[in-house]
Amino acid sequence: MTSPPTDSYQRRIDYLRLSITDRCNLRCTYCMPEHGVQKLEHRNVLRYEEILRLARIAVRMGISKIRITGGEPLVRRDILFLCENIARIEGLKSLSITTNGVLLSRFAKSIYHMGIRRINISLDTLQPAKYAAITRVDCFREVWEGILAAHCAGFDPVKLNAVAMRGVNDDEIEDLARLSIEYPFDVRFIECMPFNSEGYDEKFMPTDEILDRLARVAPIYPADGADSNGPATHYRFSGAPGRIGIISPVSHHFCPACNRLRLTADGKLRTCLFSTDETDLRGLLRQGASDERITAVIRKAIDSKPERHHLSGGALRKCISRPMFSIGG
Ligand code: SAM
Ligand code: SF4
Repeated sequence: MTSPPTDSYQRRIDYLRLSITDRCNLRCTYCMPEHGVQKLEHRNVLRYEEILRLARIAVRMGISKIRITGGEPLVRRDILFLCENIARIEGLKSLSITTNGVLLSRFAKSIYHMGIRRINISLDTLQPAKYAAITRVDCFREVWEGILAAHCAGFDPVKLNAVAMRGVNDDEIEDLARLSIEYPFDVRFIECMPFNSEGYDEKFMPTDEILDRLARVAPIYPADGADSNGPATHYRFSGAPGRIGIISPVSHHFCPACNRLRLTADGKLRTCLFSTDETDLRGLLRQGASDERITAVIRKAIDSKPERHHLSGGALRKCISRPMFSIGG
C-alpha cells in the first residue's frame, strides 16, 4: 500500500471528503439561506464515474479514508451504486458518510450493506419545534427514526453532530450529552463556523464553555481511543456506553493535525475548508487528462495546503469562501 502524501508542513494527508451534491432537503440556518440558494448547474456536477475515477486516483496516492458528504448525500439518485463502488476500491480502509438523517430509516441498512461503516448524523436539538426552526423543515421524528435505524443496522458508534449555538440550543447541551449515557452514541459538539454570518457573533459558543456545562451532568473523563486522530477530543461520562466529542475549529484550531482534502460536487479540490483556493479537477477530467496528470495536479495542490486558517485571534473573521453545503462539510 502506498504511504500517504505529506504536505509542506509534514502533515500526512490520508483523508478525502467527497461532496457528491450541493442539494439538500433541509435549510439549516447556519448553513443555507431559506430561499434563493444558488444551485450548481446539473452539467457542472461530477458524474459518478468521474467521482469514482478521482477516488481511485486518490487511494492510489495513499488516501485511505473517504467520507461521503454534501449537501445531503442521501438525496442524490443511485447513492447506493456510488457507496458500493467506492467501498470496493482496493486499499481504501474506511468509508464513512455524514447525513442529516432525514432519509436514513430508508437507507441505513442498505448503505451499511454496501460497505459504509462509519456514520455521522447531524442533530442539534431534541425538541421537534426547535428542530423545525433550526432546519426550517418539520421532520424531527423522521431523523430520530433514522438514528435508531442506523443503530439497528450495525453502525457502531453512531455519531451525532450538534452545532452549539448560544440562544438556540445551548439550553439542551446537557440533554444532548445524556444521549451518550442512554445509548452507545458519540455525541459531538461542534463550534459554529462563520459560514452564514447573520447573528454569528451572538450565537458563537466556545467549546470550553460546553465542557464546563458537561461536568455538571456527571463525572466526565478523557476518553480518546484508537480512532482519535480526527479533530474531536473525546470524553466519557462515568460508565456511559457512548462518548462526548468536542470539536473546536474556531477557538482551538486543529490545523497542525489536519489530514484532509475536500472535493466539491463540481469537482474542485480544496486543501483547506477556509481557504478560497481551489484546483479544478473537473476541467482536467473532461479535457481527457491522464491519471498521471491528475495525480501530479493533486500532488501540487497538497504541496500548497495552507499551514492554518485565521478564523480566530482577535475578532472572528467572517468566512468569505463558499458556504459549507457547497464545499462539503
Ligand atoms: N447534510 C449533511 C449533514 O447535515 O449532516 C452533510 C453536510 S453538512 C454541510 C456537514 C456538517 O457540517 C453537519 O454536521 C453540519 O452540522 C455542519 N455544519 C454546517 N454548517 C456549519 C457551521 N456554520 N458551523 C459548524 N458546522 C456546520
Ligand atoms: Fe443541509 Fe447539512 Fe447544510 Fe443542514 S447542514 S442545510 S442538512 S447540508
